[in-house]
Amino acid sequence: AAKRAGQAYRRWDPALDEQSTGHARLGAEMRIALDTGQFQVVYQPIVAYPEGRVAAVEALVRWEHPQRGTVSPAQFVPVAEQNGLIIELGAWILRTACRRMARWRAELGGSAPDKVSVNVSARQLAGPGFATTVADILAETGLPPHHLAVEVTETSVFEGGQAVTTLHELRKIGVQIALDDFGTGHSSLGLLQTVPVDILKVDKSFVDNVTEAGRHSVIAEALIQISTELGMTAVAEGVETAEQADALHQLGYTLLQGYHFSRPLAEPDFGRRPTTTGGM
Ligand code: C2E
Ligand code: CA
Ligand code: CA
Ligand code: CA
Repeated sequence: AAKRAGQAYRRWDPALDEQSTGHARLGAEMRIALDTGQFQVVYQPIVAYPEGRVAAVEALVRWEHPQRGTVSPAQFVPVAEQNGLIIELGAWILRTACRRMARWRAELGGSAPDKVSVNVSARQLAGPGFATTVADILAETGLPPHHLAVEVTETSVFEGGQAVTTLHELRKIGVQIALDDFGTGHSSLGLLQTVPVDILKVDKSFVDNVTEAGRHSVIAEALIQISTELGMTAVAEGVETAEQADALHQLGYTLLQGYHFSRPLAEPDFGRRPTTTGGM
């Protein structure tokens, strides 16, 4: 039998098959979850160090599935990207976070965080309507634009479509742009030449070994220098110990986020955070 190239390699893979039906099921359940209120937004403090004030919060989505329990966003966000539901889910997350932030500003005044940072995925950013969606949500919730940042990754920017144009539009209306997982992509530095970035989120992988002399602390130091020179704000992600916090402080970092300060919570506490080594 004649086999054309490409066909010869197409074999039935039970694992792949399993995965795709699993995705389809998860996708269908996500539709129901959105309609029945199974999604929740939690907020992780970003702390001004060493003062301990909560300067900002990152909004993170959670799915409380009635049978499966808590499903990780690392699991369902990629599925929502694939089936397109991320457009509706993403808008819901954005609206929820902006409404919440507007309420904190109204209730807590000066003790409220300055900013809520919301993760935005490639597919949301690629479409033509995203800047308008954001503007509408800000108008609807009454949140002034400078209290919102959108977190994008290098991959989501490079996936193209309208992404770069959209980021410029968002910047123009006063929304800040945060580059997430910075340093883990292939051309993180190159991206800084084409995309207007206000906030660099230095990836946890550089924070993990920052207390040891060696390449990670050298990179962490280079990244804070670059962000300062370019007029950006650096946030160190995934800070788990007091020693890491102090080492980052020594390098010049002033904004830290991680389990050492707080896990993401539905009701974060905006009181001051532990600041000194051994203080917990
Ligand atoms: P990310 O944007 O890089 O978010 C940081 C992740 O690290 C969060 O996991 C957070 O809970 C976790 N984290 C924070 N501090 C620490 C720490 O000290 N140690 C460790 N080991 N982890 C820490 P989460 O909430 O499970 O989210 C995973 C990823 O899913 C996010 O990574 C983001 O890419 C995506 N995601 C989460 N929420 C959303 C959302 O609302 N929209 C979109 N598009 N993606 C989201
Ligand atoms: Ca993020
Ligand atoms: Ca990140
Ligand atoms: Ca990530």
